[in-house]
Amino acid sequence: MNTALPQIPVAKPVLDEEEVAAIRRVVLSGWVTQGPEVAAFELEFAAFVGAPHACAVSNCTTALHLALKAVGVGPGDEVITVSHTFIATANAVRYCDAIPVFVDIEHNGFNIDPDQIEATISSRTKAILAVHQLGMPCDLARIVEIGRRHGIPVIEDAACASGSEIRWGEEWQKIGKPHGDIACFSFHPRKVITTGDGGMLTTANPDYDRKFRLWRQHSMSVTDQARHGSKQVIYEEYPEIGYNYRMTDLQAAVGRVQLKRLPELVSRRRHLAELYRRSLHDIHGLQVPVEPSWACSNWQSYCIRLPDWLDQRETMQALLDRGISTRRGIMNIHREPAYRYGHTHRRVRNLGASEAAQEKAIILPLFAQMTEEDIAVVVDAFHEIAADTRPRGATG
Ligand SMILES: *Cc1c(COP(=O)(O)O)cnc(C)c1O
Repeated sequence: MNTALPQIPVAKPVLDEEEVAAIRRVVLSGWVTQGPEVAAFELEFAAFVGAPHACAVSNCTTALHLALKAVGVGPGDEVITVSHTFIATANAVRYCDAIPVFVDIEHNGFNIDPDQIEATISSRTKAILAVHQLGMPCDLARIVEIGRRHGIPVIEDAACASGSEIRWGEEWQKIGKPHGDIACFSFHPRKVITTGDGGMLTTANPDYDRKFRLWRQHSMSVTDQARHGSKQVIYEEYPEIGYNYRMTDLQAAVGRVQLKRLPELVSRRRHLAELYRRSLHDIHGLQVPVEPSWACSNWQSYCIRLPDWLDQRETMQALLDRGISTRRGIMNIHREPAYRYGHTHRRVRNLGASEAAQEKAIILPLFAQMTEEDIAVVVDAFHEIAADTRPRGATG
């Protein structure tokens, strides 16, 4: 029995002295909460993705909440999304006392099946919440077209998609431009860049952006910074109920360094993902992730579907016994106790592809510091386990 920690973790953020120096600068400045660093991070992020507006918040879950609220999602409304996603996607809908309507995913990927969206639209549908799962862009062109045709806003859960790209018309553009009405990003350490915790909303709509800025700080009519810098005494007002969804300047300073690293991190991940693809695709019945012709993933995670003859838990354990950490595929929200009751969600058809993905997918280690030898260690271990298990007669 191997009691040492796995030699190859499933993920690892890239953080070094540059982030330490950024934090140190902010600590010594005496201004640590939402202030100049947040403002600078917002401008830099907006420029990176090509968005007219970017507003930083405490995490992507709070970003999703504000996005849904901004497009007018309220009690009893319906929001079309997937069950096959992190629970935060649906929780944000529930924060609005609205009902997530679960659509199945595609059989050959991990994103929403656009063919199933239209059948779920009802008179109560107030938004489509489209997830770019694991950093792989979903079929936004089709989803946005459906949304426009029915007058329903599209919000992108781009939690995983910092640095991912999509072909839009004739050109490649960054996820977050945004292509829907609003895109929401996460900077949790499990994502490609991190601020510890953190989130960002991008939009082309100045009215939405104004709302985000108001609501993230208790709907206070004057910001701390404006009050601090004023020569006149200012009394603030609170015209409506808001939230404390602020990002701190400590987080934003780290985010600015991380954002500078992002292109290099993504290109390294693309290289490693390609190595996995080349060395795993010949295993009989195994499905490696494939980018549609219009999508370019940031490869936040490398998620494969096991062949029928490999058991998920046994495979993960056999890899762990060899010092390799993995995670099972994405959860299904409709299977969780919090969503057991009818009033918490609606589903129109069965969610067979979502359930199959949860049961048959595993996430292999992928992080920028991985070497080609690390990839070979994982691949060799996988081939060894497959050879031990492969049923007689299966070839390839
Ligand atoms: C990580 C994640 C979230 C939540 O992000 P936080 O910043 O942790 O709140 C939401 N949706 C998806 C798809 C995610 O992967």
